Amino acid sequence: SGFVRMENLSKTYPNGTVALHDVNLTIHEGEFLCFVGPSGCGKSTIFKIITGLSSPSGGTLDVFGTTPKEARKQSDISFVFQDHTLLPWSTVESNVRLPLELRGVDKKTQKIEAERVLEMVGLKDYMKVLPRQLSGGMKMRVSIARALVSRPKLLLMDEPFGALDEITRQTLQNELLNIWQQDKKMTVLFVTHNVFESVFLSTRVVVMTARPGKIAATLDIPVPFP
Ligand code: ADP
Ligand code: ADP
Repeated sequence: SGFVRMENLSKTYPNGTVALHDVNLTIHEGEFLCFVGPSGCGKSTIFKIITGLSSPSGGTLDVFGTTPKEARKQSDISFVFQDHTLLPWSTVESNVRLPLELRGVDKKTQKIEAERVLEMVGLKDYMKVLPRQLSGGMKMRVSIARALVSRPKLLLMDEPFGALDEITRQTLQNELLNIWQQDKKMTVLFVTHNVFESVFLSTRVVVMTARPGKIAATLDIPVPFP
């Protein structure tokens, strides 16, 4: 079995582009996987297929024993993108509560959960602030908090720290590792162009090549924590 399993997964877009060819990958619960590779190697396509936004043209995909669409419906999957899509006219708290509000969770629980995750990213004192009053690193922390608020089994991160300066990026990398270690069951899939970042963060690096998108190698990284 496996937590997320791809077997002979292929994706050809309607215009004939072969984005993925014969991808085989089994992801285990609690792994921190980094995908590295040139642009066009199919990293985003894998993410779109895992989340049910795009369907494979061949092969099979199993996401915790169900279909991607079902897993997403149950809020078991969250995303973080580089361009944190925060609502500019909503406070930090409202932004973070939004995924729960959309699911019809009661207001009291929304507040408790928002406080929980904002505490995790060190922004509990900024709940009433608007995103534009925050630095880039702080906005990214809000995006991470919003992704964590639904207690996802799977966290997908697409180049989240790509736009941050080096010092902020290193701080965020360490914070993310701390968060991941607090919840041994959360599985993280992280796309990056930065090989150093991938080796620092992950328990396994998946190296991809383009035309067509394929897995060239996977590299196990010994976890430096007890
Ligand atoms: P990456 O995220 O690694 O840059 P993508 O998954 O975005 O790669 O793209 C893989 C390949 O598929 C690229 O050649 C890209 O141009 C192509 N592609 C991506 N999305 C589409 C689409 N909707 N229609 C046609 N081709 C696409
Ligand atoms: P599908 O529903 O087949 O999985 P998507 O929803 O990913 O496809 O994309 C829908 C359409 O968006 C594609 O058919 C294509 O016309 C366009 N598109 C998106 N990204 C790209 C890209 N990188 N290259 C070419 N076309 C793209």
